[in-house]
Amino acid sequence: MEKNAAVAIVAICCVAAIAVFAQSNSLVEVVQLDPTIRIDLRYATDRNFMGKPVYSDARAFLQQPVADAVVSAHRWLKKQGYGLIIYDAYRPWSVTKLFWDIVPPEKRSYVADPATGSRHNRGCAVDVGLYDLATGKEIAMPSPYDELTERASIHYRGGTAVQRAHRDLLRRAMEREGKFRVFAGEWWHYNFRNCNYPVLDIPFSSL
Ligand SMILES: [Zn+2]
Repeated sequence: MEKNAAVAIVAICCVAAIAVFAQSNSLVEVVQLDPTIRIDLRYATDRNFMGKPVYSDARAFLQQPVADAVVSAHRWLKKQGYGLIIYDAYRPWSVTKLFWDIVPPEKRSYVADPATGSRHNRGCAVDVGLYDLATGKEIAMPSPYDELTERASIHYRGGTAVQRAHRDLLRRAMEREGKFRVFAGEWWHYNFRNCNYPVLDIPFSSL
């Protein structure tokens, strides 16, 4: 019995190792496709709701078709004088678990349940904002990135008209090809519709 159990464990380990290897190769780094997309990965800094870095590297990875769609949105925006800023992209599962454990229960609608994992864990969700091509400055939206309040809603009617117009321009850029859909509670979060990828927990240091 013990020998059979050992064989079974070895078999499971090998299958898992092969799966992780294959998955790591399916993520691409967005700046490799277009270096003019700005990367400001907030979770690699202390400028996030955690108040401390939780990523070891400020590098944005996505599944190839997702990255291609982001590049397409960015190039459309450039014709209007804007560029995309990526605040978050692929997120290792263990970071999602960390958020779930730290966020108070009444705020958990803003974070993904680690029991199912999120599209960020699958490399097919991206958090984005805008920057001004001429000045290089980040564009103000009705709420700051990752503010867990009603001001983050795509339907929020407060803020200034200019802020709302920029939020809506970002949405138009991201949804115009039908590949992304905004998450209504967060103006910055876009889900890739075809997200048939497994949850990943590959650390940035291994990508
Ligand atoms: Zn997000």
